[in-house]
Amino acid sequence: MNANASASRMETRPASLRILFLSAEVFPYAKTGGLADVAGSLPKAIRRLGHDIRIVMPRYGFIEIDRWRLKKVIDALSVPFGEGSEIAIIYEARLDDVPVYMVDNARFFDRDGIYAYPDDAERFIFFSRAALELAKALNWQPHIVHCNDWHTGLVPNWLKTIYKDDPFWKQTRTVFTVHNLAYQGVYGHRILEVAGLAHHGFIAHPQLAHWDHVVHFMGRGLIYADFITTVSPRYAREILTPEFGAGLDPILRDRADTLVGILNGIDVEEWNPATDSYIPRRYDVASLEARAENRRALLADVGLPEESEGPVLGFIGRLTEQKGIDLLVQVAEDAARYLDARFVILGTGEERWQSMIEAVAEKHPEHVRAVFTFNNPLAHLIYAGVDILLMPSRFEPCGLNQMIAMRYGAVPLVREVGGLADTVQDFDPRTGEGNGFSFKEYKAQALYTALVRAAENWKHRGVWRTLQERGMTTDFSWSRSARQYIEVYYRALNTSGEIPERLREKLAFLPGATEATKTP
Ligand code: ADP
Repeated sequence: MNANASASRMETRPASLRILFLSAEVFPYAKTGGLADVAGSLPKAIRRLGHDIRIVMPRYGFIEIDRWRLKKVIDALSVPFGEGSEIAIIYEARLDDVPVYMVDNARFFDRDGIYAYPDDAERFIFFSRAALELAKALNWQPHIVHCNDWHTGLVPNWLKTIYKDDPFWKQTRTVFTVHNLAYQGVYGHRILEVAGLAHHGFIAHPQLAHWDHVVHFMGRGLIYADFITTVSPRYAREILTPEFGAGLDPILRDRADTLVGILNGIDVEEWNPATDSYIPRRYDVASLEARAENRRALLADVGLPEESEGPVLGFIGRLTEQKGIDLLVQVAEDAARYLDARFVILGTGEERWQSMIEAVAEKHPEHVRAVFTFNNPLAHLIYAGVDILLMPSRFEPCGLNQMIAMRYGAVPLVREVGGLADTVQDFDPRTGEGNGFSFKEYKAQALYTALVRAAENWKHRGVWRTLQERGMTTDFSWSRSARQYIEVYYRALNTSGEIPERLREKLAFLPGATEATKTP
């Protein structure tokens, strides 16, 4: 259908949408980072606006059936897989009013962790395909399948190929949300057979020569989805450039008119200093001084001295290249020495960053303490106890920590990228405007300069209190962003369901895996 014909159609705008929401992690059941927070809170907000949204996730081995009172809803769902099929058991939990279907299959999901297994491609193909088969088995026809990150990237591909003529899926449109472009899911040709896509072949693109004989999960999501979103307006612009596009910017530029940046919210019930059961002293903006008790508890908990001249700094996050750990480590040294700041670092991840952090902590035992576990209660205590939360990220699609920090009266210090730039405005002492501190260049000096400014302003109790109050009274809830997602759902629903012409012209669909493997 051409553009004119689709424009002249009556717009479809059902008052209540049916949305199937797929995520590899959902808080509180399984979490490694921000994706889980989003998947555990956005659907609740969409439900509150009157739409029938249902989540599907894997049931990993560590999600206990009794603890979460999972109800078995399907004994044996047959899921096409490779040449044959595999069986899924489907459980159901409830997140407030939102049904959460969990796909169980011992071979794929009975593991201690979520990712980084050699068969991740097979695992997430199975999960995504099971989600589609589940909708069919329930005879629940979604208007929208909302896919999140590379794990679900083949869903839009399937709906436009192998399910294309299936009447059940005829009206369904897909929305693909990029939470982090750095994780792409790139696999060899054999995976096309596992996915049942061998006959539809490889995809070649003139600016992506390295795609030959490679199956790119996120790339396929970006090509086939009817609409694409990402988690902040700034990141939506950044990823159109080679600097932030992680090799996918040529596709994203061709899809720019169907790419929307929607800022993440946070779960303001989960993250609420007035009701938080993990912290010794609850408080709100009117009782900010009570926060000092949490600060003391934090320092005692990690074993740092209570008395010192400087502020208490915090970092929480995955220890990866992205998070700017190299800057953090360089600055920790100076902060200890010249600012007498105490620094609490909580994170899990790559060994090399861990040992770098460990080295500074050993050198400055009175100032730097690191905890290398995934520890949600300690994270709560850090937000409630530190004066300044640092996020010197190389890139940051949205970032939730800075918003959680502000809600807890900790002042964020961030690098001016992605969602950090959209949520934190550098404090300007001349105008009194701003809600935190930020720096531009990815350099330790730039971070340190901002930290000195923050530490100076921290001494001015009145100024500091204003910054804290500003953060604590900002609306970080999902209500606004949830409405923006619903608008995207309607826009997606009213697309033709074809790959945009501009992109299609550039793509070549090469012979399938079976033929390709025969070529020398
Ligand atoms: P990303 O998605 O890149 O990991 P975000 O800032 O979007 O980063 O989200 C991070 C989320 O994970 C926050 O809720 C943060 O509190 C939590 N988190 C990260 N690391 C840890 C950890 N080691 N222990 C507890 N919570 C953590």
